[in-house]
Amino acid sequence: MAGVVEERKRIVLPSDQDASGRSFGEEELAELTRVVRSGILFSPKGTAVKAFERAFASSLGASQAVACSSGSAAVHAAIAAIDPEPGDEIVTTAITDMGALTPILYQGAIPVFADVDPRSLNVTAATIAPCLSQRTRAIVVTHLFGNPCEMAPILEMAAARGVPVIEDAAQALGATYDGRPAGTLGALGCFSLQQGKHITTGEGGVVVSSDAALGRRAFLFVNKAWGYGDENPDHYFLALNYRMSELQGAVAAAQLPKLAAGVARRIETAGMLTALLAGLRGIATPQAPARGVHSFWRYCLRVDPGVVRGGAQAMAAALKAWGIASAPRYIVKPAFACEVFARRRTFGASGFPFTLARPEAVDYRPERFPGTYAGLEGALVLPWNERLEEEHVDYIATAVRAAHAALAERP
Ligand SMILES: *Cc1c(COP(=O)(O)O)cnc(C)c1O
Repeated sequence: MAGVVEERKRIVLPSDQDASGRSFGEEELAELTRVVRSGILFSPKGTAVKAFERAFASSLGASQAVACSSGSAAVHAAIAAIDPEPGDEIVTTAITDMGALTPILYQGAIPVFADVDPRSLNVTAATIAPCLSQRTRAIVVTHLFGNPCEMAPILEMAAARGVPVIEDAAQALGATYDGRPAGTLGALGCFSLQQGKHITTGEGGVVVSSDAALGRRAFLFVNKAWGYGDENPDHYFLALNYRMSELQGAVAAAQLPKLAAGVARRIETAGMLTALLAGLRGIATPQAPARGVHSFWRYCLRVDPGVVRGGAQAMAAALKAWGIASAPRYIVKPAFACEVFARRRTFGASGFPFTLARPEAVDYRPERFPGTYAGLEGALVLPWNERLEEEHVDYIATAVRAAHAALAERP
């Protein structure tokens, strides 16, 4: 391997963890300056967050957007908007950010893990169906890596059961299904503005809905359920302060107009890599559903360990020698194998809300999740961002091809 690397000059790839892979500029600074000069850093009195919420909702064609402090807060607000009874079940995925799962527990509900399609790592109608019960109060679908779930059969099944769908679109800004933006197909959509997402305010999130009652509850939930603007406001129910500050709102407002170009660039460079990797035995490139558009938060390869010796782990080690920081498996283990679930580390020693769960709803034996384990085993996640140039894509492709040449078994 070392010899192969020396043949080419090593290139440093842009990273979304610093300025090299992000799109900050004068626009963010101008908005920040305006907000600081106004002296109003608090969104109920300011204009920046409100302007961002209006622009975000209208860019997606949703009737309402509620900005908040993180993607986790956005998911929490969506779950709280649904208002499950303690012990009610929310069907979700074990391949996601933990911030998409702990809010379910905080609301006293039980996350019920659906298996996933091992190729897309997304939930499907077929994997969700066996998880539905009399106690199902919502289905959370996560568009992993920016690749939209196959929504039509999921929406149809959910509608038939009268169960709302929450879309976790934290990784899927810019993705579409049937021409509609990810996050607007279900009852509520959740987004993250964390450092590494499509657009960012460092930390931040947004919930969208076109259902006035759900949107209202989400708004209240991030505002301690205080009825701002009401005739006789009160704290109407149990809720937190999850507001976005005007400082973040300023950056968000300046980031949003840059989103479309960033998504287009991500899709364009992903297409280049897919073309450059065509025909590599044992390596599958990402595939969007026929009716969907993938917005490439990350570029996830599938590595067949039966063809590539050592599988995704060995490929990742080889890419590291080229300075490419890929993530084999994406996450080390399915969420339910983490202590919070496996040991029920929740509220004191109570184990609540797991104490209310049907045994089948919290049965985490691996044989129940073949797609989840196979999907993680084969996944090799390449970092992606809107600042990748053709030379970077070329470099990544050369590195993957070199690693493949060294590791693939002869046919
Ligand atoms: C990032 C992410 C979250 C959580 O967002 P934070 O802003 O980090 O709290 C939730 N769900 C998914 C799928 C994510 O990728």
